[in-house]
Parts: sequence; structure tokens; C-alpha cells
Amino acid sequence: MNTRFDLIVVGAGPAGCAAARAFALSGKSVALLEAEPEGQSHKRFAGEWLHPQGVDALKQIGFGSITSLKGRPRGRGFVVYPGHGEAPVKLDYVEGQLGLAFHHGDLVDEMRQVVHETDRVTFLRGVRVVSADDFGVVLDTGKRLEAKQVVGADGRSSVIRRSLRGATHHKPISAMTGILLQGVKAPYPDYGHVFLGKPSFLLGYEIAPSTIRICVDVPLKYKAEMKDPEWLISAIRDTLPPVWRQPCEDQIRHGHLSWQANHFLARADYGNGRRVLIGDAAGHTHPLTATGITNGLVDAIEFSQAKDFSSFARNRRQACRVPELLSRALYDCFSKDDAFSNSLRRAVVSLWRSDEKERDRTMGLLMGNGRSFLTFAGPFLKALLGAWKGRDQSTTMAADLASIASWIRLPMAYAMAGWVRSRA
Ligand SMILES: Cc1cc2nc3c(=O)[nH]c(=O)nc-3n(C[C@H](O)[C@H](O)[C@H](O)COP(=O)(O)OP(=O)(O)OC[C@H]3O[C@@H](n4cnc5c(N)ncnc54)[C@H](O)[C@@H]3O)c2cc1C
Repeated sequence: MNTRFDLIVVGAGPAGCAAARAFALSGKSVALLEAEPEGQSHKRFAGEWLHPQGVDALKQIGFGSITSLKGRPRGRGFVVYPGHGEAPVKLDYVEGQLGLAFHHGDLVDEMRQVVHETDRVTFLRGVRVVSADDFGVVLDTGKRLEAKQVVGADGRSSVIRRSLRGATHHKPISAMTGILLQGVKAPYPDYGHVFLGKPSFLLGYEIAPSTIRICVDVPLKYKAEMKDPEWLISAIRDTLPPVWRQPCEDQIRHGHLSWQANHFLARADYGNGRRVLIGDAAGHTHPLTATGITNGLVDAIEFSQAKDFSSFARNRRQACRVPELLSRALYDCFSKDDAFSNSLRRAVVSLWRSDEKERDRTMGLLMGNGRSFLTFAGPFLKALLGAWKGRDQSTTMAADLASIASWIRLPMAYAMAGWVRSRA
């Protein structure tokens, strides 16, 4: 077998498949290396919702068979249920654009199949990369492969990132369990449903005809309780819509749950130009805003088209900053439980309910349309003001001010980081 390539891509998840395909189409020889043996991809609970920008990216590099598959649920946007019996608020993708939903294993299998059939790609499965340097990688068999560049598309625990930076600390955020319901419909077909409640929030959407994925977010402080099925059932019973309640309880009692940990690593480091990080290997955040796969696909395409590594890295850092901040702020807003944060949650929902422009702005940010920090700061300050006016007067001013300070710290840190970088 050939041991020299233009490019070695480590990891055949969505980002790695996209990179292998994009570089092969531009005439490069590519080795795509995947640790997972064949037939295992459906065991993993991971991304199953793609924003319109991700759908465009798939089409752009010849994965159109995936986006056009008949019967595959489309994504028109999100429906947010504020709880307490209040009517839901609908947030549509702007200009009628469409996202996509699927079983994660289906997406990965279909992408791998297309890449397998692509000229100039040597696709090796069941091989694990154990180390890397600027000239190639070493496999678990001891064999060495060499290339002009190595792309680390090997996910959150990236070996390529480790080869560059040593062990990186990614911050644990929460745990999430995935539950599949068969033979039921969604209250709003083609929408992602976000149910706000306690101990955190639930997501639900159709990933195949009459197959619903429920994602239950569990804050880490309930680490011990979450192992008890009856605790989980009682925690989510009042938050779920009646049509999903019983099937969900049945699945939990039968132990049909897939747990995943959610971590945060800021997208700031894309490697050194010889070893390049894309997808989750470059950074990852809570899946609430469903940006992970889209980010990985766009990384792959932009890297394959960039005039040099520095412009690729600079561009991606800028593009991902505001969506990442939105994701962190929304996660905190939907999961924190102090009085001021509850008031902020009400203010955000009320802003969306009353103002079409704010709904479009939020969806635009999710779709990657906002690079300027101001696109985030304006509505954020509006929501903070609304939360201050509507706060529960029985709490102390000191407690509310402490909560506000914690809310302001995060965007300030992002604004400062962007300012420092833009002057560097
Ligand atoms: C519970 C949950 C729900 C999510 N929901 C969404 C969602 O709805 N929408 C969304 O966009 N994102 C979502 N995400 C995030 C999304 O799943 C990831 O962002 C996405 O899968 C990242 O793709 P990737 O190709 O970078 O990495 P991965 O999907 O992690 O793929 C990495 C690949 O590399 C292989 N690999 C790893 N190490 C090695 C090695 N040493 N040698 C060879 N191969 C290796 C792995 O086997 C794997 O196939 C979710 C994540 C979680 C945990």
C-alpha cells in the first residue's frame, strides 16, 4: 500500500469525510483514517440536526444524495415552549431556508460511502492513529504514513490536538441522554422543539418519519440522581408534551438511553499549518444550538479553498466567535436557576414573542450570519434590561447584581478576546 499522500485526514466523522472529499475533488491524494470498525456508527448518540448553512456545505462538495433523500425530515426552525402552560414561540430560519434532521449514524454512513467512492481517496477503517508530527502519523499497528499536511478531524479527544498541545482541558458542562421514540409524531413537524423546564431543558425532533429523538440535558450537580430512572422520569414528566410522555417513560424504564457528556472548548486554535485541526478537534460547545456539524463541514471546505493556513484560521476564528457566544449564553439562560436568570429567560422568550426582527436576528446568528460582536450585544443588553424590569422583587438587590455580573462577564471576555486578537 502507498504510504505517502498529499494529505492525511484523521477521523471519518462529518468533518473528516468533508475534508477528504473536498481535497480529493481539488486533485489531492488523501488518506482517510478511521478508528471505528465498520457497522458501529449507529451506536453513537451525537449530532442529528443541521442548519441550512450545513446543508449548503454538503451540497457544495457532492453529498447532495444525503440532502435530497426522500422522506428525510427538513428543519424549518425551532419552537420554544417556555413552560408554565404558556404558548410556544416559533423561530423560523430566515428567508424560508431549510435545515435537515437524520440519525447521526445514517449521516456518517452515507458520507463515508460517498467518500469511499471518491477518486484519489484511500479510506482505511478500523485503524487508530496513535501519534503524529509535522510529516505524518503512526498507526496502532506501528505503521507510519507520511503527507505534506495532517488534518485532525478526530473529534473532542483529538490525538492530533494532543500531539500539538499536550493534554487540553475542555470544560465539562452537562450530561445529555438521548431517547428514541418510534411511531409518534411531533407537535410541529419539521421543527426542533425546545422545552424549558427543570432541572434544565429538553429537545425533541423527528429524525426519520415517525421517529423522534428526545435529548434530556442534565446539569452536572445531578450526577448521582441521573442514574435513577424514576428520578429522570419525574424530572421530565411535566416538561414533555403529553403525546411523548408515556413512550418516553417506557424507554427510560427499559434502559434504552444513550448518555453523552457535553464539554466546552473555545474555537481559538486550528493547529500549526502542517497539523491542522477542524470540527470538534478545533473546539466544541453545548449541542443546544446544534452548530457542531455545520462548523465541521464549513471548516473542511474553507480549509480546502484557503490561500494559506493563516487566513483560514483567522477567518474561522472570526466566524465562530458570535455563534459560540450565543450558544454559551443561551445554555446558561435555559439552565441556570437563580431568580435573575429565571427573569432573563422570561425576557428572552418575551423578546422573541413580540419582535420578529429579534427572532430573525437570533436565527441569523445560529446560521452563521453575524460576525460582529454588536449583533450579539444589542439584543443581549435589551434582554438584560427586560429581565431587570421584570425581576422578582422578593429577591435581594445584592443577589440580583451578583447574577447580572456573572451574565456580563462572558460577553465581556469574548469582546476583549476579539479586540486583543484584532490588534495582534
Ligand atoms: C449529545 C450530542 C448531541 C449533538 N447534537 C448536535 C446537533 O443536533 N447538531 C450539530 O450540528 N451538532 C450536534 N452535536 C455535535 C456534533 O455531534 C459534533 O460537533 C460532530 O459530530 C463533530 O464532527 P467531527 O467530524 O468533528 O467529529 P466526530 O463526529 O467526533 O468524529 C471523529 C471521528 O474520528 C474518529 N477518531 C477519533 N480518534 C481517532 C484516532 N486516533 N484515529 C482514527 N480515528 C479516530 C472517531 O471514531 C470518529 O469517527 C451533538 C453532540 C452531542 C454529544
